[in-house]
Amino acid sequence: MTFWQKEDLPASPPASSESGKINARLLIIEDDRTFATSMQRLLTHAGYRTEAVENGLDGLETLAATRPDLLLVDINLPDMTGHEVIRAARDKGLTMPVIVVSGESEIDAAILALRLGAMDYVRKPIEPEILLYAVARALAQRCLEREHKTARQRVDRSEKLHRFLVDAAPDVIFILDETGKISYVNQRLHELLGVEEKQVIGRHFSRLVHDHDQKRARYAFSARKLAETARHSIELRLKSGLDHAGFRHFEVSLAAVGMPEEQAGESDDQAHYYGVARDVTAHREAEALTLYQANHDALTGLPNRNLFRDHLGLALIQARRNQGRIAVLFLNLDRFKHVNDLIGHAKADELLREVGERIQRCLRGGDTLARFVGDEFLLLTPCFQHEGEVLDLVERINQELTEPFRNAGRSIHLSISAGIAMYPEHGESADALIRHANIALYHGRLAGSNTHSFFMREMGESADQRLKLQSELRYAIRHDQFELYYQPQVDIGSGRVKGVEALVRWNHPELGLLPPGEFLPLAEEADLIGDLGEWVIRSACKTLRNWFAQGIAPPRVAINISPQHLDEADFVERFVGLLEEYQIEPARIEVELTENLFIRDPHVVAEKLHSLAAHGVMIAIDDFGTQYSSLSYLQKFPIHTLKIDKSFVWEIDREYRQHAIIKAIISIAHGLGLNLIAEGVETDEQLRFLENQGCDEIQGYLISKPLKREALESLLTRGLEIHPAPQ
Ligand code: C2E
Ligand code: CA
Ligand code: CA
Repeated sequence: MTFWQKEDLPASPPASSESGKINARLLIIEDDRTFATSMQRLLTHAGYRTEAVENGLDGLETLAATRPDLLLVDINLPDMTGHEVIRAARDKGLTMPVIVVSGESEIDAAILALRLGAMDYVRKPIEPEILLYAVARALAQRCLEREHKTARQRVDRSEKLHRFLVDAAPDVIFILDETGKISYVNQRLHELLGVEEKQVIGRHFSRLVHDHDQKRARYAFSARKLAETARHSIELRLKSGLDHAGFRHFEVSLAAVGMPEEQAGESDDQAHYYGVARDVTAHREAEALTLYQANHDALTGLPNRNLFRDHLGLALIQARRNQGRIAVLFLNLDRFKHVNDLIGHAKADELLREVGERIQRCLRGGDTLARFVGDEFLLLTPCFQHEGEVLDLVERINQELTEPFRNAGRSIHLSISAGIAMYPEHGESADALIRHANIALYHGRLAGSNTHSFFMREMGESADQRLKLQSELRYAIRHDQFELYYQPQVDIGSGRVKGVEALVRWNHPELGLLPPGEFLPLAEEADLIGDLGEWVIRSACKTLRNWFAQGIAPPRVAINISPQHLDEADFVERFVGLLEEYQIEPARIEVELTENLFIRDPHVVAEKLHSLAAHGVMIAIDDFGTQYSSLSYLQKFPIHTLKIDKSFVWEIDREYRQHAIIKAIISIAHGLGLNLIAEGVETDEQLRFLENQGCDEIQGYLISKPLKREALESLLTRGLEIHPAPQ
């Protein structure tokens, strides 16, 4: 502190005083009125607004009321000292600058005043320049302080804002010192990785990096690399929770600090690198999912054909190197379309999933099972020695599927067929092998095999042929290329024809006469079975009408109906409609249905069968004993006839056990009052056995093959009797 001397004054007064002067309001507390007036005059002249009071109490009151910009106070006042005024003012929170003006020349009074917060001490008698200078300086100081305060407030606010922005940033933001130790990190670290700030401050950044990425991180963030470019980015996995195996993916960029200096603040000396780590986990996961979806079947979770082709490609490379063999199997669920129609898509999907699981149980480590499309699966098995192993595999799969599938309260029986193509014999490329396995499958199906077939060169492009056949089939239905053959069913006792079974053939313009086994599966696949079935019914009705006219009508005509056709909502209506159209008594018609029917919805089946029976139509179960051998349906449904499958009949000559089965079937049929027909009877021995067991009717080559209509007509005209076999 100084006692101002005139010669001490700087050449010009403080700068800000000019602006402050105009509006500055000064309060003078001075009991010497004359002195007060002269000070007022001086200051007013200098451009200040002034007010004067004569004692401390008035002074304090005015201070509180008017809040002047500056206080000039005498030390000796009548009611209190100037010091007391200053103290009281400060106690009231009044912060204006104070200049003590007094005659007191003691240093103690000055020091006390200054200690109490006075800014200056001006001695009486005053020198005008000194007073003016002190006032200007105090006001300038006051002004500076105010500016400083608002600046400080602004900085505070901006710092808060920055901190908020940094903490609210979606990214982890951090600062590293020159050795790579973390000196600052925002709150995101905790939110994203569950790591507390205090766990990493002062620790090396690598502490956060996943073990597998350490090397890459070290290389990317080496001082040399960082010196090369301003900013470095690398994708790293950062550990979530420092000691756990979990992690998230981040895109981490690091830059040497080029932050504006004033922002570097107190951590200035520690800030060498400024880093941002953006969490890209969701992105990576989405990518991984997309990749997964591109390679897997959504329904079963199995690899799809893309991934299968990749695996096969790899297996081929290995096989070429090791002279190994590879088998590609095209698997198809038999009659799955029926199941689909029966239980609906959603349930059928569940079934496919389960089929996938069951097949997988049969595989070895190196095998790949993929879902191709619909009910078609692809199977790759590398490394095997001989074909027998592949066949064993198919067998194992079918074995695994024998246990009925429980679905929607039903039990469903499924089996697969397989087309097999092998490397190197059947193809050298993935595509060729897949295609040839597919061809083998369809060729096998056309040939009626239900289990497996190996590709053969002769099959050539018969898959294309299949498509061609389907479109030809469509044409054939419209252009009457079909023909019904009739096979008699004969009563063993009397030898008389009790009925004829209508069996369809296709007069193919190029391929000749095709048996139903070659086109019925195609018709089912192409959804033409209803149209074809309707053609058969109409044709049979027409013929029967004709036979009535000729007076040679057999008591009964049997018509095979495919379950898929029966499924059609208006089947019964249309069927009965046709009978009416041709004026056929329903009891003259027997519908032959296979046991497959009973894997369907029993309520729907029951309704159809009862409705047919109610119209008087007869119902036979075809191929009895081969499929769904549950006897319970025989009581539940209105069934008139059982047809013992030919496979049982053919065993008669050979195997004793089958005798027991036939005996059982015959006794059941009789017990339930059902008519019994044995099919495929070819030998006298079979006939004799059946006769002895009390079987009612037989059908088979022994009596007659299925005949063209004209041939059958001459047989009917002649009248047929089987003669008892020679004893
Ligand atoms: P299916 O109903 O079991 O018909 C009997 C099959 O056995 C016929 O074959 C017949 O020619 C054959 N067969 C009859 N007696 C003997 C014999 O003594 N020995 C031998 N080895 N075979 C004999 P086909 O005509 O080839 O018919 C095959 C299957 O096609 C039929 O089996 C039937 O399920 C189906 N089918 C035939 N026509 C139709 C039809 O119009 N509609 C429907 N939905 N299916 C039909
Ligand atoms: Ca039949
Ligand atoms: Ca049959």
